[in-house]
Amino acid sequence: MTAKKGLLRLLIDTFSHLRIILSKIKRNLSLYAVKVNSFREVFVEITSHCNFHCEFCPSDSLLRKKESIKDEYMLKILSELRDKHKVIAFHVLGEPLLNKKFFKYLSLCDEYNIEAHPTTNMSLLTEELLGKMLEHKCVTLIQLSFQTFNEESFKLRGSNMPFEEYLALLENLVFNEKRITSNCKININVMNDYHCHHDKLWGMFNPEEFWQFMNTIETWKGKLLSQGAVEKSRMKSCAGKFYYKKLDEIPKDFYNRADEVHYEITPNLAVFVKHVGKFGMPDRFVDFLNARKNCQYKIKNIPRFFPFPCWSVQTPCVLSNGEITCCCIDIEGTLSLGNIETISLEEAAQSKKRAMVMKFPLLFETCRKCKGRLVFQKKE
Ligand code: SF4
Ligand code: SF4
Repeated sequence: MTAKKGLLRLLIDTFSHLRIILSKIKRNLSLYAVKVNSFREVFVEITSHCNFHCEFCPSDSLLRKKESIKDEYMLKILSELRDKHKVIAFHVLGEPLLNKKFFKYLSLCDEYNIEAHPTTNMSLLTEELLGKMLEHKCVTLIQLSFQTFNEESFKLRGSNMPFEEYLALLENLVFNEKRITSNCKININVMNDYHCHHDKLWGMFNPEEFWQFMNTIETWKGKLLSQGAVEKSRMKSCAGKFYYKKLDEIPKDFYNRADEVHYEITPNLAVFVKHVGKFGMPDRFVDFLNARKNCQYKIKNIPRFFPFPCWSVQTPCVLSNGEITCCCIDIEGTLSLGNIETISLEEAAQSKKRAMVMKFPLLFETCRKCKGRLVFQKKE
């Protein structure tokens, strides 16, 4: 009986691996057919200031100035996107709630029919502010940058807030009455560094504690349903093959690979596990990591040549200094297409450089480093 169960599990896991590999190949190949002269979504960094100092984030090693985006730049972006069915993701680096004009921009998004997807580290997001955000019809998705799900790894975030307080804040936001019945979706983002850098870079993802956290989430699910949360999805998910509705559908060893996991708690609430590689590894950030007092390894990022186009270029990004760059990983703007002061988003989107970065990223140093391989050498 046990042998049969084991065989069945092996078959399910093998099928799941194959499905993921095929979906990745299909997604990469489909990019050759993507139109590169337009975009649906744009990242806008309304401030590069942050009240956290996460060790896994290049924010504190940034070369460019920490600043809020000029109001005139933001008004230009909003006017250009007016009534064009576009989405603004309010994030690259920085905490958007630190920009005092954040709610003014949400009001303009309402008026101009632009969808808004803010990302926040949540520390400033009181229930009152969440309620205020949910009053804006433009806000259809809020990304909670929760990232670390235990006390030990929360220390990596450089915040004075005790972890219990942070967790209680998450619970309060999840059980906020307005939120439970809102159409606005909330993603609780968790970062996975297990598969490639475990114990060497940060060691922040602990599988056992992750599943404990997910069990807590499961108890929240039952409570939410009893409080009026909708059980079935009204909308189609865009999370594709990595989308799960039952905990036991998630491959048990997903964290060992670079897979994402999008676990739907209720249709308007999910846990989203991303792998750490998505933060990129610019040289300055690698130097910054090597300079850490407790770092036992010297890290090198070896640039890699890779044949596939890059899907990230579909979503251009405006940094707080106005530079329009190809993707949100290019945090210093080395792949800049111009500045919003002098060109429009449409002009940037239609530029030859953007098409080149998308189809042939290996021609660009930043991209080769972004896809680079991290090598760890034990320090003497
Ligand atoms: S990861 Fe987010 S919260 Fe942490 S320092 Fe970077 S921008 Fe701030
Ligand atoms: S490969 Fe280049 S375009 Fe793609 S995410 Fe990395 S830096 Fe951005």
